[in-house]
Amino acid sequence: MTNQVLQSLVAEYNSFWQVWPQYEQANGERRLIGFEVELIGSHTSDLNHVDPACRRCRSVRAVLLAIADLLPREANLGENSLTYNIDSHSNSVLCLPALGNRSAVSVSIYVSWNRSNSQSFETDMLTAIKSFLNRWGIHQR
Ligand SMILES: [Zn+2]
Repeated sequence: MTNQVLQSLVAEYNSFWQVWPQYEQANGERRLIGFEVELIGSHTSDLNHVDPACRRCRSVRAVLLAIADLLPREANLGENSLTYNIDSHSNSVLCLPALGNRSAVSVSIYVSWNRSNSQSFETDMLTAIKSFLNRWGIHQR
């Protein structure tokens, strides 16, 4: 898949992203240890479309996964001690109020760290993730 094809599929699937902070509870303190970046896309506006075996849903997921795989290399997060985990939620179809209850598929990227080096660390990382996804035409919702 060329970048150009990937980019046009991203647009065709109305892809967007959401971010969820991940906390750890230790010694009575809540510490931010990472982000879940959720990429979401959909190929249909059919409200009754909930077929986990759908081939088109599978290709939406493949496109989101391709983007997820590029993130560690291309987002310039500039931190060696980051851990990336990708979960493609391969058997689930979401039903999203934000999309008018359209069915959609999602891929989650978990980025986590052991220590943060500076006060602006988390903000810088979110900015880098955001500009990487913007370059692909994926906007935050
Ligand atoms: Zn489908």
